[in-house]
Amino acid sequence: MKFQQTIAATIDIAGTALQSGATVKMSIKPQPEDTGIYFKRVDLPGQPSIKAEVNSVIDTTKSMTVGKDGWKVATIEHLMATFHGLGIDNALIEIDGEEVPRGDGSGLYFAEQLLKAGIVPQKAPRKYLRIQEPVWVEGIVYRQNEPTKATLVILPGDDLEISFTFTSDHHVTGTQYYHYKLASDTFLQEIAPARTIAFRREIEYLQSKGLALGGDLNTVVVVGDQGYENKLRFPEEIVRHKILDILGDLYLLGPLTGHIIAIRSGHALDYELAKKIISQNATILL
Ligand SMILES: [Zn+2]
Repeated sequence: MKFQQTIAATIDIAGTALQSGATVKMSIKPQPEDTGIYFKRVDLPGQPSIKAEVNSVIDTTKSMTVGKDGWKVATIEHLMATFHGLGIDNALIEIDGEEVPRGDGSGLYFAEQLLKAGIVPQKAPRKYLRIQEPVWVEGIVYRQNEPTKATLVILPGDDLEISFTFTSDHHVTGTQYYHYKLASDTFLQEIAPARTIAFRREIEYLQSKGLALGGDLNTVVVVGDQGYENKLRFPEEIVRHKILDILGDLYLLGPLTGHIIAIRSGHALDYELAKKIISQNATILL
């Protein structure tokens, strides 16, 4: 039997937000058993808070965003993925702005901070949603502003596994495939360090919409017309980052077992799958 986990001490992080470029301060605090993950806006009157769960999602356009009553916390996915990857069930994130700081553009910086604080087991057993029947969703994602079909499937399985295929007609990236089985040590080695990707030809468009303002060549893998503009951490860093995003997005359901097969999925489709897993009543709680 596995037990729920939290952190041993409060972590303070200050940094730049990936999309808005704003400077934000964030504290991650330990929480008791069966709390879950909560975000609290300490800069707003009354310091409202919200649980990181499927019902709290208000936007999936460029990042996973939770909120209600006109306030939000955006770009939670890399932090959520790190909680998922390291098996942290209970934490409160106090933040003084609308978006989680970018860290190093991946899950690695957050993982290092959490490990430094210490991850501690709690008394209550960990509960897993176990997928009992196939659930799948299809949709359209935009690649370099061109609509493309995307598919996301989850099948029953004893562990959480993700088989992701990223496709692109861009000659620099080509098609990339990666298969990952979740465990905290492999998460640190294989998935946590994979950074956000941006196509050079897409960046101006995003910045004109007020997005990607906090990205730079240390935190974002930039795909130029002639090649990558920075040094990669993995040859298939892009698809590994897509797995990081899914791990974060689906952690809105809590711990989960099943085999995910993803073709070009992004935040919007991840969210559709999470909703359908609930509405189809496709799980049992173990
Ligand atoms: Zn991401």
